[in-house]
Amino acid sequence: MVRAGDRYLKYAKMLRDIYQAKVYKLPVSLPVSCPNRDGRLATGGCAFCPPAGPGHEVLPDCLGVSGQLERNWQHIRSRYSARLAIAYLQNYSNTYMSADEFAGVLAELRRVREQALVPLVGLAVATRPDCLPDRHIELLAGLAAEGWRVSLELGLQTANYRLLRQLNRQHGLAEFIDATLRAKRRGLKVCGQIILNLPGDEDGDTAETARILTVLSVDEVKAHALYLAAGSRLAGQYLAGQLELGTVEEYVRRVGVLLAHLAPDIAVQRLVGRIPAGQSVWANWSLSWWRIQALIDDYLEKHDIWQGKSLGHPLTPPPRPPGG
Ligand code: SF4
Repeated sequence: MVRAGDRYLKYAKMLRDIYQAKVYKLPVSLPVSCPNRDGRLATGGCAFCPPAGPGHEVLPDCLGVSGQLERNWQHIRSRYSARLAIAYLQNYSNTYMSADEFAGVLAELRRVREQALVPLVGLAVATRPDCLPDRHIELLAGLAAEGWRVSLELGLQTANYRLLRQLNRQHGLAEFIDATLRAKRRGLKVCGQIILNLPGDEDGDTAETARILTVLSVDEVKAHALYLAAGSRLAGQYLAGQLELGTVEEYVRRVGVLLAHLAPDIAVQRLVGRIPAGQSVWANWSLSWWRIQALIDDYLEKHDIWQGKSLGHPLTPPPRPPGG
């Protein structure tokens, strides 16, 4: 019998086991854009992304890397008696800059750690999978070789590449596979970012997404329910009555599909997302994230679902009849 708290591997617990302390992620915004917004690939961005980008709790980039980290750390440390942190390059595509500029960002992070301005143990970098040159991977691998836990948070959203096209992602599944393989070959951690209930996706798409994350041996997954950020194309469709959203019960069931098809050693960063009030036209069925989390926990318990439950093993040939 699986205990309620052990139905899936929680990212926070994994970090606590590694560092013997709770580790906090501190968001940092860089003065970057996204090739899906600046005209390199397209200008409209992904259908769910607002013009200001997907990061919601970031300080202005004019404060600089160390300025943002120090300010966020002071807040977290005083509030939670925190001891360790991971810098999180969050908004837009954080490898969408020259290798020299990227090296400058990493040098600033090293300085923050060396001067003990913030007790950094790692770096998480959110970016598009088609926006990851080998040179940037090498620079990150250098940081990992110095003992930093370096994780690339690659946006996939869904393995349904036809839906990715409809959402104007401007990349498909192949780019995610390519980026993941190249990053893991150099010893970096990879987190797959996905949205579980995109309009047009079915349970089978979620299962396939989870199975692909599994066979790629990603290290982490970060999932959330679709929310409609103000200014995004999907928000406009919703306000025009052209978009139907599923129920919270359907979402909770979809979480069960994800977990059942995900390898047990992939750490789950989150299953419910958040967006500050006033920045969305619709989010999370107007329920708090902890209420949805409670519904998920109840569902997993009731249906006895645990991480990896539905993963098949390699099939062996059927037994031959005697004398066959
Ligand atoms: S790739 Fe990221 S930043 Fe760019 S439009 Fe899509 S969600 Fe927004």
